Amino acid sequence: MSVALVSGGSRGIGKAIVLRLAGEGFDVAFCYRSDERSALELAEIAAKAGGRVVATKVDVTDATSVRAWVGGVERELGPVDVAVTSAGITADAPLALMADESWHRVLDTNLSGVYHVCRSVVVGMMKRRSGSVVTLSSVSGVYGNAAQTNYSASKAGIIGFTRALAKEAGRYGVRANVVAPGLIETGMTQALKEPARKKALAAIPLGRFGTPEEVAGLVSYLASPQASYVTGSVLEIHGGLAI
Ligand code: NDP
Repeated sequence: MSVALVSGGSRGIGKAIVLRLAGEGFDVAFCYRSDERSALELAEIAAKAGGRVVATKVDVTDATSVRAWVGGVERELGPVDVAVTSAGITADAPLALMADESWHRVLDTNLSGVYHVCRSVVVGMMKRRSGSVVTLSSVSGVYGNAAQTNYSASKAGIIGFTRALAKEAGRYGVRANVVAPGLIETGMTQALKEPARKKALAAIPLGRFGTPEEVAGLVSYLASPQASYVTGSVLEIHGGLAI
């Protein structure tokens, strides 16, 4: 049985990824920051697919906790074959009004969180000469988005990080790719006020927000042997928003 590790798996896109990978036969370990109820419910549902599913409360900003989490997962489930970094937050404000705390919180969670997870899993993958890392960026990281300098910087950083990792680890049989979604129906976008939602919908050729399941499909592809020659790629999924 292959093992998948998902950061930020309790809700939204991460939850859909956990369900998708568990449904495909992976043993899945996922972490969450605070919402224990959602996490435990999900672990129970996802385990019905037949594999083992383990939920752990881990803050990805804390390197020591992430290292301990990955070590525990590898002892319990076995070596991590697929690592998906989905934990992420927003704290939007125009740069002129950006609070230092919002800048650092978003960078610590979205970018350093990815570093902490990948730093903990990649050495083992390289030793085993196999593995797939999938990071969640955003169209905001590719194109920039007003009132999101912190978020856009973190998500652009993820692209640079992942491409550098693809170059470092490719010769060891490890692939690293980025999924960059547009607007997806999750808690993150439910916070959008109605006028902003309408404006966004008008700019999406497919005329709707995406679903977490659609993003999970792309992650599943990148994690699978079907993507054996895909590394260092940024796969955008946005209903045409960014064209
Ligand atoms: P949600 O807000 O729905 O879920 C966020 C998840 O991340 C939750 O499981 C949350 O746990 C977890 N999380 C947040 N902070 C931490 C932390 N410090 N440590 C551990 N876990 C944490 O987000 P989405 O599903 O919408 O987003 C998933 C990813 O996709 C993010 O990286 C986001 O930036 C990206 N993305 C989302 C888009 C969208 O439109 N929704 C568009 C483009 C990119 P808990 O519930 O316990 O807080």
